[in-house]
Amino acid sequence: MKRLLLVLSAPSGGGKTTIAKKLLQVRKDLGYSVSATTRATRNGEQDGVDYHFLGRAEFERLRANGDFLEWAEYGAQLYGTLKGEIDRIFGEGRHAVLDIDIEGARQIRNNFSNSLQVFVLPPSAEVLLERLTLRNTENPELVRKRLTRASDELAAVAEYDYAVVNQDLDTAVEQIAAILDGKAEERLISRQRNLPELVERLRRDVVRAAEKI
Ligand code: 5GP
Repeated sequence: MKRLLLVLSAPSGGGKTTIAKKLLQVRKDLGYSVSATTRATRNGEQDGVDYHFLGRAEFERLRANGDFLEWAEYGAQLYGTLKGEIDRIFGEGRHAVLDIDIEGARQIRNNFSNSLQVFVLPPSAEVLLERLTLRNTENPELVRKRLTRASDELAAVAEYDYAVVNQDLDTAVEQIAAILDGKAEERLISRQRNLPELVERLRRDVVRAAEKI
């Protein structure tokens, strides 16, 4: 079996972390790539489970050592996929799920032929804002920054292979599972004619929502 890098990207608050967790419950042939990050731990997050929380110096040391498959800066913090994580998952005979930003997805796309790239879209800007503000650890300034960034990220949808709208968690998970099985041609970006319109509307609404904060 060819091992795959299943890349999931979405604007922050797009719900992809929840999707990834649910996907891992239902698919035993998948392993979650625990990223390294310099950002602070949020409520309920566990080191080594949600992220490997590192100091900046340690992150930079690993980066200089060539230990990252990809890395990116997001909101003034560093994030990266450790090669060791992918070795571990492939060693267990599983495909790897990477919850990474558009910059990281580009690096994976350019360097590996075994990636499957899925963009998870929020159903509306309101839902995105709701999810972002529900994380009460974020201050308004940070929420505004993430919304502005969300608009830029949405502009990158066309670079991905597939798009899934996260209207309903179970449906989104089913659709991603079908993509993995090669049974979801209708989710191909190129096959979704109404996608550019949806993305444009989302971008417009997200910008408006950011202005109101
Ligand atoms: P958060 O701070 O909300 O957990 O994540 C912020 C952004 O960083 C999200 O878009 C998330 O997908 C991305 N991210 C998380 N881990 C990685 C990683 O290892 N590499 C890259 N490039 N982005 C990551």
